[in-house]
Amino acid sequence: MLFRSRSMTYQHSYDRSIADPAAFWAEQADHLAWYRKPAQTLVANPDGTHQWFADGQLNSCYLALDHQIEQGRGEQTALIYDSPVTDTRQTYTFVQLRDEVARLAGLLRELGVKQGDGVIIYMPMVPQAAMAMLACARIGAVHSVVFGGFAANELALRIDDARPALLLTASCGLEFDRVIEYKPLVDKALQLATHQPRQVLVLQRPQARAELREGRDLDWQAAVAAASPVPPVTLAAGDPLYIMYTSGTTGKPKGIVRENGGNAVALRFALRHIYGMQPGDVWWGISDVGWVVGHSLIVYGPLMNGCTTVFYEGKPIRTPDAAAYWRVVEQYRVNGLFCAPTAMRAIRKEDPQGELFKRHDLSSLRQIFLAGEKLDSSTHQWLEAASGKAVHDHWWQTETGWPVTAPCVGLEGCGVRPGSSNRAVPGYHVRVLDDDGHLLGPNEQGAIVIALPLPPGCSQTLWGDHARYLQAYLHSHPGYYHTGDGGYLDEDGFVYIMGRTDDVINVSGHRLSTGEMEDLVARHPAIAECAVVGVRDEIKGQVPLGLVVLKDGVSLSEQQLQAELVASVREQIGALACFNQVRVVKRLPKTRSGKILRAVLRKIADHQPYTPPSTLDDPAVLAEIEGVLASLARAS
Ligand code: AMP
Repeated sequence: MLFRSRSMTYQHSYDRSIADPAAFWAEQADHLAWYRKPAQTLVANPDGTHQWFADGQLNSCYLALDHQIEQGRGEQTALIYDSPVTDTRQTYTFVQLRDEVARLAGLLRELGVKQGDGVIIYMPMVPQAAMAMLACARIGAVHSVVFGGFAANELALRIDDARPALLLTASCGLEFDRVIEYKPLVDKALQLATHQPRQVLVLQRPQARAELREGRDLDWQAAVAAASPVPPVTLAAGDPLYIMYTSGTTGKPKGIVRENGGNAVALRFALRHIYGMQPGDVWWGISDVGWVVGHSLIVYGPLMNGCTTVFYEGKPIRTPDAAAYWRVVEQYRVNGLFCAPTAMRAIRKEDPQGELFKRHDLSSLRQIFLAGEKLDSSTHQWLEAASGKAVHDHWWQTETGWPVTAPCVGLEGCGVRPGSSNRAVPGYHVRVLDDDGHLLGPNEQGAIVIALPLPPGCSQTLWGDHARYLQAYLHSHPGYYHTGDGGYLDEDGFVYIMGRTDDVINVSGHRLSTGEMEDLVARHPAIAECAVVGVRDEIKGQVPLGLVVLKDGVSLSEQQLQAELVASVREQIGALACFNQVRVVKRLPKTRSGKILRAVLRKIADHQPYTPPSTLDDPAVLAEIEGVLASLARAS
């Protein structure tokens, strides 16, 4: 039995973190191997944002690799690459990974990448993607990983916003047994983008060879082989480590900026005290480097905490079957696991009785954490019964970079409450406000906000657009960070997330903007107006539905229109949007001033009770929409 002092109980830690955030986080920061320890812990800026550890100096790549080697973990496995889609299994010790990263960092430097430069990484789940991130961190370049499922247009938007000096890619990714060529997508994105990176580094995979453009494209392996390794540079705590684009309510993605210092302190705290991981443990963050989980829980978090990280290029099912996850857990003696509920629902569909769990020895696994979307109670219960493990829901966002609410299994007495996403993690003062900004009491539903200051690790700006950050997150309720989620707290402080209060939907744990899809749908010449709403889906949680009103005189069938719109969204955003359904309606519900009542549409789509607003111009319109959604629900 581990003895923990009173200071490591959940309640004591939480209370201290709220009463005196600077003292609490200064203590946590003390555990880090800084180049220069920060004397200043917390500085409040006049605009409501905060600076953590302003005068501290460090390097995130050093913490993830070199420091681990100095601590005697050089021969420990740092990264296990398991790729059922290519039938590859490969391990890298901390020394091997450091050597690969140092050489790649040297190459970036030789290619003219400087501290503070942006670098776009558009790659599948191959270890070189992690190496690319760490190599950027080593020389102080700011990486922005773009999920490989995004179409060329989305990549182009990010290229124009991040203005990268260099773009790193691979010749292809693999979806089950399908080879997806990345290079043509990169070429197209570069045609669409105004900004042009100086060079494109291409990792050739044997499943598809990419054509290299003379003078711009370089062969990864050959270029790295000729490069010389470089040591980590010294960075200020506030220097950006990475940009992660996420969907906002408009078509323009938001470039969330993560700082080196806050991120390192927060991820140390998270790995140990939320996830209960110790150096030497094997951790598996099941996600993709293209998402925030890939940054916090596949690359930086586990490595900076001396854990072995599993890097999986496969799916929950059909690679080769629904036992894939349990095979990996047994094979590598995984101790802790993170996953999105959608993956578990896919497994459950194929293995409702949980028979496949029994084929594998899961004794190493201590618990399973789920996040990214609401964990429904039926999936929760099924997973707990089938795995025999504690299953925990927890809630966070790209913006925060680490959990806001969670069971802190590494702190005594935190407690868990199934059905909730658990209590606020130390550092997060979670509150609920009504529309007028008044604090609500227990069990009263409203907007979930976090009282400032946000703890270390949370984004304090958007890349190149600080005003948009202030507008999106701090302006609506002064003194609070606006999460965009609605819900309530019960009398014991357990948090219940009910869903987004804005035009963002969550498809298979991926956050997508309905506004962006509407922009595309509205471009179709037959369409007078449209609204895209999220409707419930058994596996994906939510999927988008296009409700469209045709222009007078148009004689296009619904089927034909749907086929054209689906193709257009797939082409412009990518298959990950899962935009597959379109219904023609006579009218959309609007206010008398002509504004589409999206909040009402969201509620109808989500089967939530609603009161037709007094501003609604014609209440009969809602009956038609309800009918369309009811027929969809029956059909599924
Ligand atoms: P992302 O930034 O893509 O990670 O998406 C964050 C959003 O996903 C949150 O604002 C929530 O709407 C949703 N989300 C994440 N985790 C949970 C959870 N455990 N329960 C309910 N919603 C969640």
